[in-house]
Amino acid sequence: MALTEQTQASLSGWGNFPRLRDARVLRARGEAEMRAAIAQERSLIARGNGRSYGDPAMGSRATLSLLPSDRLMAFDADSGVLTCEAGVMLADILDVFVPRGWFVPVTPGTKFVTVGGAIASNVHGKNHHGAGSFGNHVESLTLALADGRVVRCSPQENADLFAATCGGMGLTGVIVSASFRLMRIETAYIRQETHHAANLETVMAMFEANQAWTYSVAWIDCLARGPDLGRSLLYLGEHARADELPAGNGQPLVLPPKATRRVPIDFPAFALNRWSVRAFNALYYRRAQAGGSLIDYDSYFYPLDAILEWNRIYGRPGFLQFQCVLPKATAAAGLRLLLDRVARSGRASFLAVLKLLGKQDGLLSFPMEGYTLALDFPADTGTLGLMLELDAITADHGGRPYLAKDSRCGATLVRQGYPHLGEFQSIRARVDPTGKFSSLQSERLGL
Ligand SMILES: Cc1cc2nc3c(=O)[nH]c(=O)nc-3n(C[C@H](O)[C@H](O)[C@H](O)COP(=O)(O)OP(=O)(O)OC[C@H]3O[C@@H](n4cnc5c(N)ncnc54)[C@H](O)[C@@H]3O)c2cc1C
Repeated sequence: MALTEQTQASLSGWGNFPRLRDARVLRARGEAEMRAAIAQERSLIARGNGRSYGDPAMGSRATLSLLPSDRLMAFDADSGVLTCEAGVMLADILDVFVPRGWFVPVTPGTKFVTVGGAIASNVHGKNHHGAGSFGNHVESLTLALADGRVVRCSPQENADLFAATCGGMGLTGVIVSASFRLMRIETAYIRQETHHAANLETVMAMFEANQAWTYSVAWIDCLARGPDLGRSLLYLGEHARADELPAGNGQPLVLPPKATRRVPIDFPAFALNRWSVRAFNALYYRRAQAGGSLIDYDSYFYPLDAILEWNRIYGRPGFLQFQCVLPKATAAAGLRLLLDRVARSGRASFLAVLKLLGKQDGLLSFPMEGYTLALDFPADTGTLGLMLELDAITADHGGRPYLAKDSRCGATLVRQGYPHLGEFQSIRARVDPTGKFSSLQSERLGL
């Protein structure tokens, strides 16, 4: 079976750090080509759309791009179960199914991720407290193993392999296809409520009090200090019903076409500094209109997708995301320390997001019941030093880092934060005894 092989000059994740020069990228269209690639390579890792930030979708010997495997295969309009190949992007599913009254059950903050990537990272959205992760909505998947077999996994069939694959960062095999449940919607709009929260305690109390809302997320002003520490805007959301749209909207499931913008060049590093971000944050907090509004789903879930290649605003060196989750019992104290350390460092995080997560099963899945904080920083030595301090606070408070956002974590933090890592490793050793599936990240962290 011939494979289209191309040698790419360089490969990176969304953060543009680290970068792999002269990476070998293979492209697989369908199951037969995936199996051929697995048979031919000593070591490789699957790659979706490269929206993970660091190095989990890069192999030191070979990377297998699943983007050509993008067929929608079956849809059951009674149950809402969609079966598709792993390289299909959420954006494509939304384009096809929103006008028919269906939405993805869980979505990350970008729609440019593949179904394979969403399962392998077991991604969470603004509804994790109620709906769980993407994997919780997967009925079954097919997985190409290191020995060439393709097996079906589900919560009932090969259940341990299913649990290891949801959140398993591509290390159990290549997800060929998946069947998962879509949810019904009446409109393409979200009924949003915006609330100002003066500090961390207030926003946490608001999250707790508003758990009946389907979606919740807070933007945090991570440069606010003292009594303002944790000052934030909480956004609550529900899929709008047809009778909640203004009268006369004859096509409640169709959005008017929108313009996207592209960042034309890598920004110079000085454009994002503590002064520009502090000024932006203060203005953003004050200007935000409290109260209710109707907003289209694209603007609500994917505001950054409207600016294509926005990762280039961090310039050539790229950027790093710090994302951890802390259990509920320690979250208030731990978040206070994290935010205080960031505010004192004066290092500007342009994006700072807080979410409430619910209970989660799984072996290497990130979510646990508690709060997750995500912060972006430019990639430089100062940031690496700051992140080590943030790691220490995470470990002290029983938290864990998110592997899909990681590019530089230490193995100890991951071992401590993921108590089921040993179980994951024994399942992996059973199905892939030679460690054929490995990424730069898995080598770095000894996964
Ligand atoms: C702007 C932005 C916002 C984000 N917001 C969120 C968020 O709110 N919540 C959240 O959970 N995540 C979020 N993410 C992270 C993103 O959802 C994950 O990194 C997701 O895995 C990316 O999907 P991808 O298809 O690009 O996968 P890639 O980045 O290409 O790969 C990610 C991992 O999946 C594995 N993989 C990919 N395809 C397969 C396959 N077919 N079989 C086996 N393994 C495979 C890879 O080996 C790798 O380990 C965000 C990312 C960005 C850029």
